[in-house]
Amino acid sequence: MTDRGSLIIVSAPSGAGKSSLIAAMIKARGQHKVQVSISHTTRAPRPGEEDGKHYHFVSQQEFMKMIDDHAFFEWAGVFGNFYGTSRHAVEAQLNQGVDVMFDIDWQGAQQIRKHDADAISVFILPPSRAELEQRLRKRGTDSEDIIAGRMAKAVAEMSHVHEYDYVIVNDDFDQAVEDLTSIVVSSRLRHAGQSERHKAMLNELLAEGS
Ligand code: 5GP
Repeated sequence: MTDRGSLIIVSAPSGAGKSSLIAAMIKARGQHKVQVSISHTTRAPRPGEEDGKHYHFVSQQEFMKMIDDHAFFEWAGVFGNFYGTSRHAVEAQLNQGVDVMFDIDWQGAQQIRKHDADAISVFILPPSRAELEQRLRKRGTDSEDIIAGRMAKAVAEMSHVHEYDYVIVNDDFDQAVEDLTSIVVSSRLRHAGQSERHKAMLNELLAEGS
């Protein structure tokens, strides 16, 4: 077996700062060691989002075809759009020994755990309800109804926090990046991976009678 990377699931409600945290962690750790999986989605790109970088933007028809072809490692309907992780891309990254981070919702997390019991899952929380609401207000131009809708979605996502292995509270950003990096590093040091990686060295260290 080659030195396979770990699967690291990261979920959070919108407004918890997940994307910035993942980007900062990857910068700290190095792109050759950890990469984010780029999902497919049927939702329209937001301003500034690039196809192939933030998501692979596809039509509903293309997405359905991928489901039929069993091309997804996991997929889910999230707030009226479809999102999925392509099996092919993830396998290629893992086989290169790269740790792969999945920025996905609780439904995708449940599916990945079923496939791979060694997958690690991390949930990112905002420090308080008031802070979350402030972050969801963005530019202050949204109606109270829209903000209440965003809050309800955030609370629904957070209700799954207990299903995760690790929880990070994103209060101090630098501390949260350090916490996420520590989780990724410690996943790398787990016994199973280390025995595989250092097989020859372990054989030599544990050889009897020399
Ligand atoms: P957004 O549209 O704001 O980028 O993402 C909405 C939600 O979909 C987020 O909770 C995000 O984590 C989740 N998501 C993004 N990609 C995937 C995916 O491939 N699978 C699943 N299950 N959820 C995803």
